[in-house]
Amino acid sequence: MAAILALGLGSCSHLPGHNPMATWVQSRNHNARGAILIVVHATEQDSVQASLDTLRSRNAQGKVSAHYLIGRDGHVYQLVSERRRAWHAGGGSWGNITDLNSASIGIELDNDGSSEFPREQIDALTALLADLCDRLDIPRRQVIAHADLAPARKTDPGARFPWRALAQAGFGRWPTDEALASEPAPGFDPWLALRAIGYRLDDRQAALRAFRLHFRGIDDARTPMAPEDERLLNALVQQP
Ligand SMILES: [Zn+2]
Repeated sequence: MAAILALGLGSCSHLPGHNPMATWVQSRNHNARGAILIVVHATEQDSVQASLDTLRSRNAQGKVSAHYLIGRDGHVYQLVSERRRAWHAGGGSWGNITDLNSASIGIELDNDGSSEFPREQIDALTALLADLCDRLDIPRRQVIAHADLAPARKTDPGARFPWRALAQAGFGRWPTDEALASEPAPGFDPWLALRAIGYRLDDRQAALRAFRLHFRGIDDARTPMAPEDERLLNALVQQP
């Protein structure tokens, strides 16, 4: 009894997450609150060490971080707890989500911005994505590029990132061959489709560029909406 009393009076008697100002009366009606999206980045730096420095200190643009950094050899570094909000996305939006840092897990890939992504690095990424989606209950198609959420500011992870291979591993959104074979219906509006996928349209040409980086593997900021873009958009919005 004395031991119980001593425990109860101790200054650390409350459990983490339980406010000592209130009486804890547990309800079972709840679930985990956290990330619903995963954002893939390229560091656009020359080495893992340079990125580890940037992501843990202050750089010219202020403080930045990410939950994970994956080296070209596939080594996975974790810099921020998944329960915490890392500073990787900056301003932007995806669908109705406007505070991307609060809603997402950020994964940086060591890449100078123009090189191929080595097989080892992509294998490590897909293993990490499987782990995150399972543990954190994030839908597998909710894996996007930094450029997707901030088309006017960002192009990473860039045109060389293998989204098709990622989709074959089960992550991200990708059109099926069946959907690609169908013609857009009369009156099909490709811009509405772009918006429905998640892209913001305040800068339409920038949104189209980000879409092409992701789904066509090309960096084209100038060409107007083309039949190939429309075919892909039509296929993407047909899928649930
Ligand atoms: Zn980025």
